[in-house]
Amino acid sequence: MSRADVTLAEKLAAQAAAGRSRRRRTVEAREPGGVRVNVEGRECLSFCSNDYLGLADHPRIVAAFCEAARRWGVGSGASHLVSGHDAEHHVLEEELARFVARPRALLFSTGYMANLAVASVLVGRGDHVLEDRLNHASLLDAGLASGARFARYAHADVAALRKRLALIGATARTLVMTDGVFSMDGDIAPLREIAAACRETDAPLLVDDAHGFGVLGAMGAGSVEEAGLGVDDVPILMCTLGKAVGTFGAFVAGSPVLIESLLQRARTYLYTTALPPAVAAATRESLRVMRDEPWRRSRVLEHAARFRAGLADLGLPSLPSRTPIQPVLIGEEAAAVAASSALFEQGFWVPAIRPPTVPVGTSRLRFTFSASHTSAQVEQLLAALRELRTSGVLRPAGSA
Ligand SMILES: *Cc1c(COP(=O)(O)O)cnc(C)c1O
Repeated sequence: MSRADVTLAEKLAAQAAAGRSRRRRTVEAREPGGVRVNVEGRECLSFCSNDYLGLADHPRIVAAFCEAARRWGVGSGASHLVSGHDAEHHVLEEELARFVARPRALLFSTGYMANLAVASVLVGRGDHVLEDRLNHASLLDAGLASGARFARYAHADVAALRKRLALIGATARTLVMTDGVFSMDGDIAPLREIAAACRETDAPLLVDDAHGFGVLGAMGAGSVEEAGLGVDDVPILMCTLGKAVGTFGAFVAGSPVLIESLLQRARTYLYTTALPPAVAAATRESLRVMRDEPWRRSRVLEHAARFRAGLADLGLPSLPSRTPIQPVLIGEEAAAVAASSALFEQGFWVPAIRPPTVPVGTSRLRFTFSASHTSAQVEQLLAALRELRTSGVLRPAGSA
């Protein structure tokens, strides 16, 4: 082994010793809807996808994708500013802007890159970034990579945010970033209060609505629609397309000058190949399906509510989430992994989420629901949890 490999092997061993090794499971087959899956030879029910509306294999969206691939080909061939910006991308940006009631939108290849883009263009050395402590890793990385002074405030704590803003003597050079729906907890940020604090101090606010877009709000435009917040309140809205929308990619929506600045200056926009145009065409169809089939939003939220009620009956503590993300806190890494393995043995695929994704001591099972689940499948899951609870495999955080 090279010296570099020896060092890497030591780090891997340390990670394994801490119970934090990760393992990919290969999906061999998916039935329509994506809930019944064959995972490494085992038939199981998936409760871990972010395809909340069950759109990833919707026939209309698949057809739009195939038709566009035949017309445009598979690859875009270049970045947007060279020759990769096709009419499908262009029209999709206009449709996305309308969907979230913002003046303009810009497509990115991933949400991770979109978050990096915003932070790098809005702030730099000498500026400030303030983030919720439980923000998604891509927001934390974006803040750190920007070179601005970086601080985290206590989770969803607007008083703590206000204190930090006052301390800095905030100006336009303090970027505030928060998840709309927190990805590992499922709760919703106090967006109205955060937006008010930012407006008072003239600090730009980015809301990352990766898990709210498509699910929350009367039209499915997400947590900012639900909170009734326009572009003056939340000047920078980032949403991903790979979750509830069922396709791939992301976009930032905001004022024309914000979007033009990202287009001109964001390195994660300039120096990467544009999304395949067929993905843009599929996303356009997905927006139409979201409008035509609003029952998908209600169904997934009903499943989440039923699951929470079921947890309460079992004496298992739920977190304050009314979104499709429903975690059950376990505590220690090993216990969370054991619970996840036991569920898998029974045919339920639910991941254990451990540090560094979540704070130490808050390892958990993260259940996610989809409009493709049936009520019977939710009951099956609860029955399996009851058994694990009775047999002592499932012990919630804090209980001996
Ligand atoms: C998934 C996620 C992202 C990253 O989006 P990708 O398109 O998968 O890169 C960003 N923010 C949050 C909150 C997410 O959950």
